[in-house]
Amino acid sequence: MEQMMKNIEQIKEEIEKACLKVGRNPNEVRLLAVSKTFPVEIIKEAYNAGQCLFGENRVQELCTKTPLLPADIEWHLIGTLQRNKVKNVLGKVALIHSVDSVSLAREIDKRAARKNLMVDVLLQVNVAGEKTKHGFIPEEVKSKVKEICKLPRIKIKGLMTMAPFTENPEEVRPIFRELRTLAESIEKLQLPEVQMKELSMGMSNDFRVAIEEGATLVRIGSRIFGTRNDVRR
Ligand SMILES: *Cc1c(COP(=O)(O)O)cnc(C)c1O
Repeated sequence: MEQMMKNIEQIKEEIEKACLKVGRNPNEVRLLAVSKTFPVEIIKEAYNAGQCLFGENRVQELCTKTPLLPADIEWHLIGTLQRNKVKNVLGKVALIHSVDSVSLAREIDKRAARKNLMVDVLLQVNVAGEKTKHGFIPEEVKSKVKEICKLPRIKIKGLMTMAPFTENPEEVRPIFRELRTLAESIEKLQLPEVQMKELSMGMSNDFRVAIEEGATLVRIGSRIFGTRNDVRR
């Protein structure tokens, strides 16, 4: 437990350093603790240490955990969302990072209308073009944003990407840079209900580089909680 608190503190210092290196305000970057596969007792410890923003990548796991934890935790969904799970997640998360198709956005909009909710989302972009990863391809993002922003229950808050795993995070800097450039060009379109306020990028091994390139949400699991026994990403 003490180790976990040390980890969080150290990550916060690294976030601050990365910000200062490029002249950013550290308050612009939020640490999302990715708690997938870890039990509620461990999450509670992190919460008691002051962490109140958590991310899960599976709807089922999220729904099992949230009722057992303090109500003031802010939850984000970061993993692939199947359309038939949308109804279960609405109202439970403050932000969905992983909208990767127009049909998913339509389902979110439809379900949100029934529950009288507005839903904040990020569009996931597969910048690296990896076959195993979800997301829009960079070339189509603008036209998809234009389509999705017409859905009355959805507010687009920014973009998310996952970089390929690499030992040397400098290798994925161009990916983060491309996501930021894409967000800037979308911002210029001045579309209704579209803000490019959030850039969700950077994980345990590459968050410093992501921050230098403009990340506002870093999604960190193993550096906080330790290695997972499965290799789910
Ligand atoms: C698991 C996961 C993370 C965190 O990965 P770590 O390498 O453990 O920090 C971040 N983003 C997504 C989408 C994930 O599924």
